[in-house]
Amino acid sequence: MPQTTAMAAQTEPTLAQRVRFAVFQHFIDTGEPPLVEGLMTDFGLSRAETGAVLRDLAETRGVAVVKGTSRILMAWPFSAIATPFRVTARGRNYYANCSWDAIAFHAMLGNEPVHVDSFCHFCAAPIALEFADGRATKVEPAATIVYLALRPTQWWEDIILTCSNTMVFFCSAEHRDASGLVDAGNPGASLTPQQAHDLGVPIYADRMKIDYVRPGRDALNAHFAAVGLTGPYWQI
Ligand SMILES: [Zn+2]
Repeated sequence: MPQTTAMAAQTEPTLAQRVRFAVFQHFIDTGEPPLVEGLMTDFGLSRAETGAVLRDLAETRGVAVVKGTSRILMAWPFSAIATPFRVTARGRNYYANCSWDAIAFHAMLGNEPVHVDSFCHFCAAPIALEFADGRATKVEPAATIVYLALRPTQWWEDIILTCSNTMVFFCSAEHRDASGLVDAGNPGASLTPQQAHDLGVPIYADRMKIDYVRPGRDALNAHFAAVGLTGPYWQI
């Protein structure tokens, strides 16, 4: 292929893409989000311009900000604040937003080793997971469940509440059922840690790349079916 053709095929990243990428780089390097002031300096933007880019990223599901501010709260799977979902990878500690996000670090980091320390959402018993090469290599307790209380179609109605309150771990099915989180009309999804990893691969695997694009509805429906997640819950 002539070099000119190859170069023409590459489009310049947009400002929103570059800022989103910088947010993820900052999180992976430091465990924290960048400040607005840091983004202003690094990108030569005014405060208003930086706020506008962050609003754009929030609308396209790249980040969530603290309500009424430009302070980055979530850049999935990263959390800016302490949560019950602590992840150790690359020799550093991170906080994830939810049980699924904690496991998603493994796919995001290209199957690098990831350790998850969390708790049963009912009894607060410790839960420890390890992932390597795409596999859950340690699950303690063995009956640990990744529980997603809301349907996928409900997740983005208020993503901060969804992540913070409805995507959790339980140490057993008994503690899931005792928790009060299960709605009789919507049993939610109960996954093994391995299933949760498999579920997240196409959504998280390229997230550390500048040209990341969220998979569309058809791609996600096809992926859910490919990993054995079928039925009304998984039709988005
Ligand atoms: Zn428990």
